[in-house]
Amino acid sequence: MKSPAVNQAIVILRQLRKITEESDSLSDKLNRIIALIVKDMKADAGALYLMVDESSLEVFAAIGYNDDIAHKVTMRKGEGLVGDIAETARSVAAADAWSHPKFVFKPEMGEDKYKSFAGVPLIRNRRAIGVLTVQSFETHEYSRLEIEILETVAMVMTEIVSSEEMNKYKQVLIRERGLVGRDKIKGLGLSKGYGLGNAVIHRRGRIVTKIFAEDKAQELLRLEAAHTRMNADLDEKFNSTRLGIGEHTDILDTYRMFAKDKGWYQKIADNVQSGLTAEAAVERAYEDMWNRLSGTTDQYLKERLHDLRDVSDRLQSYLRGDYAIVSKSDAEDIVIIAQTMGPADLMDYDYSKIRGLIIEDGTPTMHVAIVAKALGIPVVAKIKGLFDEVKDGQLIGVDGNEGYIYISPSLETQKKFKARNAEKEQQQARLEALKDKPSVTKDGVKINMYINVGLAFDLDYIASTNCDGVGLYRTEIPFMASDVMPDVSRQFSYYKDLMDRAGERKVTFRSLDVGSDKLLPYWSNSGEENPAIGWRSIRITLDRRAILRKQMRAFLRAAAGKELNVMFPMISNLSEFEEAKETLLIELEKEKRKSGEVPRKVNIGLMVEVPAVVFQLDAILEQADFISIGTNDLAQFVFACDRGNPKLAERYDVLSAPFLNMMRQIISAADRHKVYCSVCGEMASNPVEAMALIGLGYRNLSMSGSAFGKVKSMVRTLNCEDITDYVQTLLKSQKRTLRPQLISYAHDHGIEI
Ligand code: PEP
Ligand code: MG
Repeated sequence: MKSPAVNQAIVILRQLRKITEESDSLSDKLNRIIALIVKDMKADAGALYLMVDESSLEVFAAIGYNDDIAHKVTMRKGEGLVGDIAETARSVAAADAWSHPKFVFKPEMGEDKYKSFAGVPLIRNRRAIGVLTVQSFETHEYSRLEIEILETVAMVMTEIVSSEEMNKYKQVLIRERGLVGRDKIKGLGLSKGYGLGNAVIHRRGRIVTKIFAEDKAQELLRLEAAHTRMNADLDEKFNSTRLGIGEHTDILDTYRMFAKDKGWYQKIADNVQSGLTAEAAVERAYEDMWNRLSGTTDQYLKERLHDLRDVSDRLQSYLRGDYAIVSKSDAEDIVIIAQTMGPADLMDYDYSKIRGLIIEDGTPTMHVAIVAKALGIPVVAKIKGLFDEVKDGQLIGVDGNEGYIYISPSLETQKKFKARNAEKEQQQARLEALKDKPSVTKDGVKINMYINVGLAFDLDYIASTNCDGVGLYRTEIPFMASDVMPDVSRQFSYYKDLMDRAGERKVTFRSLDVGSDKLLPYWSNSGEENPAIGWRSIRITLDRRAILRKQMRAFLRAAAGKELNVMFPMISNLSEFEEAKETLLIELEKEKRKSGEVPRKVNIGLMVEVPAVVFQLDAILEQADFISIGTNDLAQFVFACDRGNPKLAERYDVLSAPFLNMMRQIISAADRHKVYCSVCGEMASNPVEAMALIGLGYRNLSMSGSAFGKVKSMVRTLNCEDITDYVQTLLKSQKRTLRPQLISYAHDHGIEI
């Protein structure tokens, strides 16, 4: 049985269809639709406002207000109830509009006699392009059903106003108002680099041209066929993915899960039952979810909305039959412009041609951004309205460093981009030349250089840098990318892949370090006031011991027959370390009994990240096989300075006597106890900071793969004895920072930094 909403929507859609077929002029269509909706909803007035530029709305059709207000009354985005709907793209209903905090009285409308108000956005590309409203003399609580009907009508209107006629009207306005196009637009850089290429507009499923179904049964069959085909293709694509195992597999699995979701499919089928075409039904199902969730501040739900948009676009392209066409460009260099994009969509293009990606919406944690970043593609997000401005093939510049995009960039800008890229290539070539040279200082001291790994793509650095091993595997990254907690076998596959890729090189696993800024989608954020010093990292895994045990089991199995190094993050005292260590040893015993296949050696260590540990080092070093210093967290706690706050980024410096003295103290203690000690925080990735570390006595550094070459150049041009003497002279300094002195030292001594 159909719901009342579906029944009423069927009746209205039928009438709307008649109007759209009968009228030829845009204004006639709009006026008749407004009249219809006012009558059907037993309202007394109604209006349609459309966005005529980025910031203003104009009345296009109205009934029940002052005469002749069409094209005369305008409103700013954000102003009053209508402006608010345009800004937030969310529906608003008020039994008494006058008492609503957002209400602004517009005398030129003549709305003083009305009380109740309901308004819904016309949404295209996830932006409001207009607002449809109804008002009544009496106070009236609008029901969810009434709002849904209005939203359905708004969807039909969205398609009508996207016609050529409307575009022409906008062009005239742009000319009359002297508005000029933009050529350099600020967005949010999500992946660094400079790219120049011809625009390829990623248009999947953007425009639904046919809204009303001729034959429902036929439409349901089309839907079913497209859905089945899409899922079969996704299965095939993902099973043969070239991206390998790792967090990307999880991202793609999430996508696949969405595509197969039964609730979503049923919702679309219901919409078809109400008279919509399958394409329009997919859109309606998405909009319904968007209306419910777009106001959420929950990052997880926001990401799910992105996933739903991506899957909806893909299904629509299967319905239209253009799913195989992703790029008509013959250009060698392309810049993809997407309103939004799923990770699967990126895989449809030839990566080697992509010079940049621009996403109208987008967040740093958006899946496609993670994949693009790992592929080294510059990404800029949060650029509104690009679809209306850029044409396929137009030259576009993407500056992922500063977060700018350039439309038809000047020759000078093109030159700048090319020079930057050439510089990068030269650097790459220099690093390539260094690859087989040892990481030894000029006076013959070997510095062991490792890389830090998180994303699966980081694994490529093992071979390309020819490093000594992996000094830090941030195991939480695959946990963060996954939609459910990975079980032991899943974890085993991540860890085994790393062990295999590392071959005989040393690998150090870190136990799950979540909480603070690293949130898991399947664990709700407990809303702590100070998450960086809250329930995070080892504090969580000691409390939720099963998680720790399972991870240890996966480590032990992945390193069977090899050497296993495990360290625990955020340890604050000896007993925490002892507890964690014991958990690992118990699992080791169990594995021995069960399969007998265990690592040939197990080294258990900890990260030095909490200052308290520095004051009990002697006791801890008695128990630990190794330590590794997480200078990012250690500095954050030593200086009481949030590591992610840009306002504080320049205020304190690890290159200052207090911090360097502390680092000196740690390495001296480790040397005294003959315990292996490394640095895996960002200090090791910065050539000047790494130089100071060597001067303090550090011989094991673990850094990001992209920093490896620069640090190696520094090491090979450094004299270890000299820097040791020089750093000694700095340790009593009271200066806020010793960076300028260390940089000058490097310049004076021909050290490449
Ligand atoms: C650190 O804190 O320095 C560290 C290496 O750990 P993360 O950056 O992952 O917190
Ligand atoms: Mg840390």
